[in-house]
Amino acid sequence: MEGPSSLFLSFSALQNNINFVRSRVGKKVIISSVVKGNAYGHGIKEFVQLALKCGIKHFSVFSSDEAYEVVDATNGEAQIMIMGEIPHEHLEWAISNNVEFFVFECTRVTEAINEAKRLKSVAKIHIEVETGLNRTGFNESEIAKLIPILHDNQEHIHVKGICTHFAGAESVANHVRIQKQIKRFNKHYKYLLSKGIEPELKHTACSAAAMVYPKTCMDMVRIGILQYGFWPSKETFIDYVSKVKTPDRNDPLKRVISWKSSVMSVKYVTTGEFIGYGTSFLAQQDMKIAAVPVGYSHGYSRVLSNLGRALVNGIRVGVIGLVNMNMMMLDITEVEEVEVGDEVILIGGYNGLEISVASFGELSNQLNYELLTRLPQRIPRKIIE
Ligand SMILES: *Cc1c(COP(=O)(O)O)cnc(C)c1O
Repeated sequence: MEGPSSLFLSFSALQNNINFVRSRVGKKVIISSVVKGNAYGHGIKEFVQLALKCGIKHFSVFSSDEAYEVVDATNGEAQIMIMGEIPHEHLEWAISNNVEFFVFECTRVTEAINEAKRLKSVAKIHIEVETGLNRTGFNESEIAKLIPILHDNQEHIHVKGICTHFAGAESVANHVRIQKQIKRFNKHYKYLLSKGIEPELKHTACSAAAMVYPKTCMDMVRIGILQYGFWPSKETFIDYVSKVKTPDRNDPLKRVISWKSSVMSVKYVTTGEFIGYGTSFLAQQDMKIAAVPVGYSHGYSRVLSNLGRALVNGIRVGVIGLVNMNMMMLDITEVEEVEVGDEVILIGGYNGLEISVASFGELSNQLNYELLTRLPQRIPRKIIE
């Protein structure tokens, strides 16, 4: 039985976004589609199948459980890379399924070698180097310790890549820090070469870096948020617009996801009444309001209390009062003839009007990522053209 809302994934929007990324990074660079966090809430299985149709042949995930789902959805049609966690007991699975993974600890490397030996196989690794994010990655002295381990076990370990991640490429405020990271990355790379280790691929760029710092694209880009049709930040969009030569300054991205529910109840409230729990919303005029059966338990953030927007019968309306666990209220005073069952668009477009996650105002750049990834797995995902 279906729940009170549905998510729709648009094939043409994804194709558009992939084409856009391709046009920016050039023909030769591999586009790795980042599908961690349940494909940013889009639904890993459905999204991966769509992405394959759009020509994607490389996927990145955070952990081995996510990789497992991608292997399942791709049937060996794509290369899969784990950028973060693999519990020891999953190493065997990763190696025997040809799944590549980041390494950032010598112990991870020796464990991988032991496992590969046991399987009479080869572990494919990406050496993550520390460049200034200070999260995970080998620093200079640790790399030196890694070199002999790699040399001694060449038949069981293949250095597929060298990589790093930037500390906020979506914000101009981090410009200097990013430039330092690029330099330090190149130093690491040269050091490896000088020691006879030749990584096949250099990759550093997430969406923001790929757009703002073209030299970070190297051999492969790891694209998350852009492919879903969102800019990493307003700054990255402005940066793009300032660089394009054509007079068309429209957003070249299209949202892949839309989220729809329907009106559950309509009622009238008179001036001076509070609406919903507590005193967070006071009717300043006579109002018509609609209850919608979507709340924070369905992934609609409480942060959007009194702030979120939705489309009802083609008119943009606001969330009023607190977002409840299973419900929210909309001010539909301006919308004529609303009936129970009418469509409510929480994310998506209608007749040129658009509700994007980012339209919730300044506090919401991070919210794009957060709201999307919190969309529960159990909301059905449907593929549309
Ligand atoms: C999440 C992630 C990305 C993708 O980031 P976007 O900003 O969504 O493009 C790339 N690389 C790493 C290591 C990541 O964790």
